[in-house]
This record gives sequence, structure tokens and C-alpha cells, in this order.
Amino acid sequence: MNKDLIDKLKGIEGIELLIDKDLFRYTTMRLHVRGDLAIVKTRNALRNVIRLLNENQYPYNLVGWGANQIIVHPDHTLFIQLDFPFDRSTLDTTHDEYILPASTPLNILTSHAKKFGLMGWEVFTGIPASLGGAIFMNAGTNLGEISEIVKEVEVLKKDGSLVLHQVDEHSFSYRKCHFVNKGDIILSAKLVHKGKSPEIKSKISEYIALRKKNTAPFH
Ligand SMILES: Cc1cc2nc3c(=O)[nH]c(=O)nc-3n(C[C@H](O)[C@H](O)[C@H](O)COP(=O)(O)OP(=O)(O)OC[C@H]3O[C@@H](n4cnc5c(N)ncnc54)[C@H](O)[C@@H]3O)c2cc1C
Repeated sequence: MNKDLIDKLKGIEGIELLIDKDLFRYTTMRLHVRGDLAIVKTRNALRNVIRLLNENQYPYNLVGWGANQIIVHPDHTLFIQLDFPFDRSTLDTTHDEYILPASTPLNILTSHAKKFGLMGWEVFTGIPASLGGAIFMNAGTNLGEISEIVKEVEVLKKDGSLVLHQVDEHSFSYRKCHFVNKGDIILSAKLVHKGKSPEIKSKISEYIALRKKNTAPFH
């Protein structure tokens, strides 16, 4: 990345910029690869970063937890990781609908589901992922797919426009999301549940135990 672009990125408030750094800490795979990464902490900062990169025709790639991608050939790509504010106290009680930032870790949501017995949320038990990465991949287990509980997804399109996608039967298929195109970024999602049941707690615990026993990922 040229110095002019680096300087312009540095001028954007709300990002942490790592240039030519070892990115192993930022992916679940923990591979040692040097590259450029912007950790973006606000939606406004993200819009500014995307605008600047598009103006300079500079490619970018989203990284959630890096659990489903291996970062290779990082030359001439800015990796972007979202770290949006998330008020964890919203999970102190249950709600009919949850609007959550894309950077929300799924394991926090699993703990919430286990505590309150949220039906439907057991589908992503044990999957290492950010919410955005899980939606992009339509992540799932033998218990189901995350698409079953996603109602709306807010997407920042590559051209800078904001779209609120209403999920329907065409939105997802097996490990695929059909409404996020190259360069688009999932900002947040509205999740719902299918009621509450005390059985969810044991279902999640048993599935976690099963996953620990079988070390290979479930797909
Ligand atoms: C040990 C292990 C166990 C696993 N078990 C399962 C399993 O049981 N079921 C399963 O489905 N998967 C499983 N996986 C794969 C992985 O956890 C999932 O694919 C998960 O959805 C990846 O989420 P992530 O946040 O790490 O996304 P990443 O791997 O970082 O990214 C995946 C894709 O999503 C894109 N992306 C990420 N965030 C956004 C965003 N905000 N907006 C737009 N695009 C975005 C990335 O650019 C990339 O193309 C496993 C992986 C590991 C390492």
C-alpha cells in the first residue's frame, strides 16, 4: 500500500491500522502471514474506509474470526475486521428480536441461549465465528443452520449504500448467503427465536460435549 493511502487511512477516526504486521492473532487458524489490517470500530469509520479504498481502487477483504479462510497472498489487499460496540447488558434478559452487530461473537449468543433456553439458537452451538462471518457462510451444525433464526440483515453495499435485507426462502442455501456480493459488508442482523424451553440448556451442553469428543469440524 502506498504511503499516501496509508496516511489517508490513518486520518480516519475509529480505526486501528496495522501495516505489514503478522496477522496470526487475527484468525482462528493462527497462521503467520504478514499483511495489512484495519480494525474498524464504528460504522462511520467503515463507510469512510470503504469510500477511500474504492476511490483508490484498492481491494479489501472482510475477516470475521478467520475460522473459514486462510489468509494468503495478502499483497495489495487491506483486510478489514469489524469491532463494533456491543452493549452486553442487552443479553441480561430475553427479547423477541435482537439487533446485533456483525462483530458479535457467536459463543456469547450461545451462552445467552443456554441460560434462557432460546429455541432455535442451538443451531450454531460450538461454531467459532463472528455473527457476520456465520451469516455470510450460513454456518450450521447437525442441529440446523443460522439462517433459520435470521430475520433481517443490514448490509453496506460496495457502492456505499445501505440495504436492509428481509430474509426469505431465497436468501440462503447450504453454507451460502445469496444477498451479500463481493465488496458488500454485513453490518448487523436481527435475530429471532422460536420460544423458550428448558431443554435447550441440556441440548447445547450435550452438543458441546459431542463436539469436544469429535475434534473434526461438523459441516
Ligand atoms: C474448529 C472449527 C470448527 C468449525 N465448525 C463449523 C461448524 O460446525 N459449522 C460451520 O458451518 N462451520 C464451521 N467452521 C467454519 C467457520 O467457523 C464458519 O464458516 C464461520 O461461519 C466463519 O466465521 P468467521 O467469523 O470466522 O468468518 P471468516 O472465516 O473470517 O470469513 C468467512 C467468510 O465470510 C466473509 N465475512 C466475514 N465477516 C463478514 C461481514 N461482516 N460481511 C461480509 N462478509 C464477511 C469473509 O470475507 C469470508 O469470505 C469451523 C471452523 C473451525 C476452525
